[in-house]
Amino acid sequence: MSTHRYARLLPALLVVTAMAAPSAQTPITLDENSYSLAQDVELGREASAEVRKQLPMLNDDRVDDYVEGIGAKLAGAVPSQLRHDGFRYSFDVVNQKEINAFALPGGPMFLNRGMLEAAGSEGEVAGVMAHEIAHVALRHGTAQATKGQKFQIGALAGQVLGAIVGGTAGSIIAQGSQFGLGTYFLKYGREYENEADLLGAQIMARAGYDPREMASMFRTIEAQGGGGGPEWLSSHPNPGNRYDAITREASTLRVQGDANSGSFSAIQARLRGMAPAYTAEQISKGQARNGSGSAGTSGRAVVQVAPPASQLRNHQPAGFLRVGVPANWNPVGSGEGVTYAPDGGFFRADGGQTVFTHGVQFGIVQGGSGNLQNDTQEILQNFARTNPDLRTAGNGRRERIGGRQGLTTTLSNVSQATGEREYVALSTAHLPDGGVLYMVGVAPQSEARTYEIAFRRVRQSLQIADR
Ligand SMILES: [Zn+2]
Repeated sequence: MSTHRYARLLPALLVVTAMAAPSAQTPITLDENSYSLAQDVELGREASAEVRKQLPMLNDDRVDDYVEGIGAKLAGAVPSQLRHDGFRYSFDVVNQKEINAFALPGGPMFLNRGMLEAAGSEGEVAGVMAHEIAHVALRHGTAQATKGQKFQIGALAGQVLGAIVGGTAGSIIAQGSQFGLGTYFLKYGREYENEADLLGAQIMARAGYDPREMASMFRTIEAQGGGGGPEWLSSHPNPGNRYDAITREASTLRVQGDANSGSFSAIQARLRGMAPAYTAEQISKGQARNGSGSAGTSGRAVVQVAPPASQLRNHQPAGFLRVGVPANWNPVGSGEGVTYAPDGGFFRADGGQTVFTHGVQFGIVQGGSGNLQNDTQEILQNFARTNPDLRTAGNGRRERIGGRQGLTTTLSNVSQATGEREYVALSTAHLPDGGVLYMVGVAPQSEARTYEIAFRRVRQSLQIADR
């Protein structure tokens, strides 16, 4: 069996030295980060695959080329100290009306069409993009995860599985936001906002855009009530004196050349000529489609969910973990999969949450107390926060799980998304490092008998490698 260790890097404080600028531009430091660069890349890759499944891509060559052109200039202006192996910046336009943009660890960036339509100039578009690139280069997503609270349900890609956040598990569960990964990696604190503003300004100047246009784009966003403005702002809160700070930084910078392509008006005209962008509500209802005729994933259709296949198929959701799940269940969500569900066993609810109605989800909680009963209670309380109707349906049952001391607790729930009564089985086991592995199985109460057997078989197949 292969050995496995959690990645624990020594806190590294890398000072980014100021580049040739007349007066002192603000030095920005990389924060402590216990994730590896490769993990940033992997997390971003998995999350972007999920984004592409869930959001309608515009897929218009001219608009994509335009945005990629701006992005390439900005990415080329990232200070050399902050260019990381394996990071690759990519830029896609989402056919969504609300003003928003986000970038994932390792570099994939998504810009809503509404952002392009609301901008007053190419420099303003570049401002948002430079800000997002700064978050990626500074590895703010994983730095923030590093600081995460002790009982964080979530994970290191490839090693730790995890419901990846949003604070919830599985099928029970309406994940906290549009994508599990999203919430966690995309909401930044004020300190990181300030850093992204300043580094973003520096990147803009080096790329040939006036950094003050970033400040003016933020004003544009703020001026948009309702809709999408607040969405971006809730993930990128104003650190306080945002405009002054950007303007002050800009005064220390020399804009190097003029990067403006001159195509901004033409692109906006092209967008105006298209059918209107989808709203978040339409997207969450599964009414949105990718551009260029390819169909997007739809929301909940009336589907018949096939019963669990009797044959198990093996998966290795993390290096140290092997599990067999019914052969007709597939990994759902991010890449290798943390959740396994049959076709029709998950869907997106109104409001954009992903809801699982059939299947199992695995996660790891780090830093357990050493007492499995207590740790299990803590996990349950965490689940209950987003599932108010979750009830324990019996005492926990001790059993061997993956060759270790384990506990299985049966629960009932009423799905907030479907209103249906659900059967829930939570199994927990300690990992050698003190963490807790959990597996939560969910099925409609009416099918509890069938799924109880399937969940037990999955549990019995679990192998946890010694580390
Ligand atoms: Zn930000």
